[in-house]
Amino acid sequence: MEVQTCSKCGRLFNWVGIGPMLCPMCKDQEEDTFKKVKEYLWDNKGAAMAEVIEKCGATEKQIKQWLREQRIEFSKESGVTIDCERCGKPILSGKLCTECRKQMEAELKALSTGEELPVKKKIRDHDRMRFLKQ
Ligand SMILES: [Zn+2]
Ligand SMILES: [Zn+2]
Repeated sequence: MEVQTCSKCGRLFNWVGIGPMLCPMCKDQEEDTFKKVKEYLWDNKGAAMAEVIEKCGATEKQIKQWLREQRIEFSKESGVTIDCERCGKPILSGKLCTECRKQMEAELKALSTGEELPVKKKIRDHDRMRFLKQ
């Protein structure tokens, strides 16, 4: 535990070391807003960013954060996207676009063909088996 200043209201609070720098009160408030946004998107498919901000009292920054964490997703029709962290291409949610994800996987695979510890190899074989089962 360390004492931190809440990034929203400026109150001092005991920060647990993970998550946003928000005091318990602001965190509760944020959870409330999140629930509202999620429900609103559920009921209003195709809702635009500005609409959600107005109706739910969320900020664009919060919404983009939730999109990045894949906690919410706007429909394709809404045109709301965030940038792929690798190539900057617009994506609906998460960190990477489909191509970058595929490329990352390929790179990881290439890396794992080098010399390995027996333990690592075992995990890889396990992964391969899981892959075959799919
Ligand atoms: Zn606060
Ligand atoms: Zn990309």
